[in-house]
Amino acid sequence: MELSHEQLRAIAQQYGTPVYIYNADQIAGQFNRLQNAFKGVNARFFYACKALTNINILKFMKNLGTNLDCVSINEVKLGLAAGFKPKQIMFTPNSVAFSELEEGKELGVNINIDNISFLERFGNKYGGSYPISIRLNPHIMAGGNYKISTGHVDSKFGISIHQMRHIERVVQSTGLHVKGLHLHTGSEIKDINIFLNGLDVMLDIARHFPQVEFLDLGSGFKVPYKDGEASTDVELLGQKVGEAFAKYDKELGKKHQIWFEPGKFLVSESGYFVVKANVIKQTTATVFIGVDSGFNHLIRPMFYEAYHRVENITHPDSDERIYTVVGNICETDTFAWDRKIAETHEGDLLCFYNAGAYGFEMSSNFNSRLRPAEVLVLDGKTHLIRKRDTFEDLLRGQVEVI
Ligand SMILES: *Cc1c(COP(=O)(O)O)cnc(C)c1O
Repeated sequence: MELSHEQLRAIAQQYGTPVYIYNADQIAGQFNRLQNAFKGVNARFFYACKALTNINILKFMKNLGTNLDCVSINEVKLGLAAGFKPKQIMFTPNSVAFSELEEGKELGVNINIDNISFLERFGNKYGGSYPISIRLNPHIMAGGNYKISTGHVDSKFGISIHQMRHIERVVQSTGLHVKGLHLHTGSEIKDINIFLNGLDVMLDIARHFPQVEFLDLGSGFKVPYKDGEASTDVELLGQKVGEAFAKYDKELGKKHQIWFEPGKFLVSESGYFVVKANVIKQTTATVFIGVDSGFNHLIRPMFYEAYHRVENITHPDSDERIYTVVGNICETDTFAWDRKIAETHEGDLLCFYNAGAYGFEMSSNFNSRLRPAEVLVLDGKTHLIRKRDTFEDLLRGQVEVI
C-alpha cells in the first residue's frame, strides 16, 4: 500500500527535505506479483540494481529471494557485500575494459558478453572452462523513449542477430561454453508482444547452442506513472512465456530457465521524493512553484521527459490550481508542466511519486548542492539509510594545491 500523506509529512518533518523515502512493503508486493505471474514457469528474477543500489535495498532484495543484475564491477562488489552469492549475480557490462570481465570471472559471477571482440578474447583465454552467456541485439525497437531503448539498429548494446554466423565461428573455434542467451530491448515496454517476439528470436537461436540452459529476456517492465495508466501485463506474459517454454522444452527434450532483470518494476512505486515549496512566483505566463531541489536530485523529467505525479501533501484538500513546478538549478530545470495541484503556499511539502527507480541513483552535486537523505520504511518503522550530504562532502576528495 502507498504511504499516506500523513506518513510522508511525518518523515519529512523528522529528516528534513528534500528526502527520498522507500516503502519496503511495496517492493515486496511487486516481487510477489512477479512470482505469482510466473508460477509454474522455471523463472528466475535478477533485480537490476542500477535503479537503486542503497545497500539496505540490496539486502532487502536478497532476503526476498531475488538474484542481482549488475552493469558494473562495482555493482557486482556491492552485491557481494550485501550477501548475494556469486552465482546469484548476473554481470552485463557494456564498453568496459576486458579486465573488468576478468575480475567478474575471478569473483565467480555469471558473465554476459556483448561484443564479438571480447567473446573471441574470452574464448581464446579460457576456452570452455568458464561458461558465459551472450547478449544479443534482436533489433526490436521498444520502450518509452529513444534514450532508454536499447534494441534499435543504432544501439551500442548486444551483438546483432545478423552476426550469428560470426558468433558461431568464434564459439566453435575457441570452444566457448555458451550457457545462456540474453536480450534487453529497452525500458517501459507495455506491449508484451515485444517480449514474446524477442523470445521467439532467442528460441530460434538457442537451437544452435545445445549447451544453453537459460534465456534471459532482460526487462523494461513498465509501471504506471499517470492516472489511468497500466503496468506491463506480467500475468499474461507469464502465461504466454509458460506456454512457449512448455512447447520448446518438449521439442528439445530438456528444461530451460527463463531469466528476467526487473529494475524499475520492483522499486519505482516504492519511492517517494518529498520537497518543500520555497517560493511561489507568478509570471505573465504561469505560476511557478520553486522547490528546494532540482534535476540534480531527480533528473528523469529533464532527461527523459518523464512524468511524475506531484501532490501537495501539506494541503491536499485545497482547490486545485495550475502550476509549473521547477527546481533551483541555474538552467532550465522543470519537474512538471501545467499541473493541477492543490493550492500551494510557500513552505508546503510536495511529493513526487514513483521516484524509487533512477531517482537518487542518478543524483549529483551539480551547483554544489547537497544530495538528499534516503529513508526506508520497514515493518512500520522508519530508518535513515543514507545521511544527507554535508558541506564537507563537497570538498572530500579534492586536493588543494593553491
Ligand atoms: C537497466 C537494465 C535493466 C532494467 O531495466 P528496467 O527498465 O529498470 O526494468 C535490466 N537489464 C539490463 C541489462 C539493464 O541495463
